[in-house]
Amino acid sequence: MSDCIFCRIAKGEIPCAKVYEDDEILAFKDIHPQAPVHFLIIPKKHIATLAEATPEDAPVLGRMLELAPRLAADQGAAEGFRSIINTGRHGGQEVYHLHLHVLGGQPMPAMLKY
Ligand code: 5GP
Ligand code: ZN
Repeated sequence: MSDCIFCRIAKGEIPCAKVYEDDEILAFKDIHPQAPVHFLIIPKKHIATLAEATPEDAPVLGRMLELAPRLAADQGAAEGFRSIINTGRHGGQEVYHLHLHVLGGQPMPAMLKY
């Protein structure tokens, strides 16, 4: 997916403030942080949305979840954090490369506001 911004970040073609990287996962700070700690964990493989993940993607999705608390603590959110995956149009997804938001560093507001 050469036109996918997160694929380009994963390949190093677009710079990011890297939080963590291994062979299948990258984590980097959100460019428009919504909390004192706000970073994204992505699979390097292009998966457009959670709705398009397949059973073979389960291990990398599990690893992303398992990494979240460790990276959150490293980044200064040791007292808890919120993790969000926006999926599709009604989910408010803007970038169509699956990503797990991790937000913290202060108490989070009510979960949903309409
Ligand atoms: P979504 O609404 O798709 O769940 O969230 C996309 C997130 O990606 C937004 O919070 C937005 O600020 C972030 N974002 C979009 N483009 C870039 C970028 O080029 N670099 C970084 N670091 N974050 C980005
Ligand atoms: Zn992508």
